[in-house]
Amino acid sequence: MTHRVTLIPGDGIGPEVIEAARRVLEATGVEFKWDVVQAGAAAIAAQGTPLPPEVLDSIRKNQVALKGPVTTPVGTGFRSVNVALRQQLELYACLRPCKSYPGIPAPYRNVDIVIVRENTEDLYAGIEFERGKPQTAELVKLLRKRGEKARDDAGYSVKMISESASRRIINFAFQYARDNRRKKVTAVHKANIMKFSDGIFLELARDIARRFPEIEFEDRIVDNLSMQLVRRPDQFDVLVAPNLYGDIISDLCAGLVGGLGLAPGANIGDGIAVFEPTHGSAPKYTGQNKTNPMAEMLSGVLMLRHLGETGAADRLEKAIAAVIADGKDLTYDLCPTGSPASTSRVADAVIEKLG
Ligand code: NAD
Repeated sequence: MTHRVTLIPGDGIGPEVIEAARRVLEATGVEFKWDVVQAGAAAIAAQGTPLPPEVLDSIRKNQVALKGPVTTPVGTGFRSVNVALRQQLELYACLRPCKSYPGIPAPYRNVDIVIVRENTEDLYAGIEFERGKPQTAELVKLLRKRGEKARDDAGYSVKMISESASRRIINFAFQYARDNRRKKVTAVHKANIMKFSDGIFLELARDIARRFPEIEFEDRIVDNLSMQLVRRPDQFDVLVAPNLYGDIISDLCAGLVGGLGLAPGANIGDGIAVFEPTHGSAPKYTGQNKTNPMAEMLSGVLMLRHLGETGAADRLEKAIAAVIADGKDLTYDLCPTGSPASTSRVADAVIEKLG
């Protein structure tokens, strides 16, 4: 069976890592028909917008996409294409496994953590009030009426944590744990300080945990969790978190297993899934054929599993693990001393292992 998949190369290092991932996916023998669409810098150049409607149309039609990273200007400019995609397609669950592969020069050997990040709300909802604007002055007035010490010279970003979105993501995390024979779910929050937002998240996590008695449940305040992840990551299994904490601990956990070059991801909604690595577009390495394509390839492994191609997924993951174990064809991030391989050479090496 041929799988029709939307392919979004992205920008920065995106086109290079996507090309490497496409080659190894095709080398598994699974047949793909790629529907290539542009988002980010390439789309701005061609169509004047970073997220043309055909990107969403194509994903809605195919229901599966493999995506490269897309740059978001910092502080000014357009809002994130990545966040817009997740919100507009209601891809509410972000799944980010972080796993130790033997041979990696990483600080730990036995990490096997899956982060389940809420993808649609929290400080990412885009509810913002710009400093000095009339709407912001109105907000300040309202807050002062309540007795809050709201400052005139501030910008405001609203943190929205809803019962519906929290229930949906926490259910997803427990169901994922059950389906994948995981033992424990840890809810991540800061409900001691943000009682009315994170408080909802924690309350629902405690409630939903009762319906999954075979899965151990605990909660951790996000700052304490960060310290414990660095000290003893092997005590964690599935972490479920609101959007911002989920984003930050994803990079932290990637660091535990060798870095962003090894951290894949999936954005999942009802019937639609977009697979992409945790890392961004690393603009300073654009066009250098230098960065690690394994996170994009491992996102492809997640996609193969989603498509029901379990055998091909297992073979591709084993081939990537074998290249890592050999240690000869690794990019600069995984071989700080020897001579690093290029992005495309890593793809060749994985294809050789696939036989
Ligand atoms: P980044 O993940 O792009 O890069 C941070 C650093 O990590 C890089 O400088 C590099 O040293 C390393 N790195 C990242 N990917 C690597 C790889 N495949 N191989 C080897 N090393 C790798 O983060 P950033 O610099 O904060 O963000 C750059 C841009 O990417 C920003 O515009 C940001 O908004 C965007 N971004 C996009 C996504 C996405 O498309 N989903 C995710 C995160 C960031």
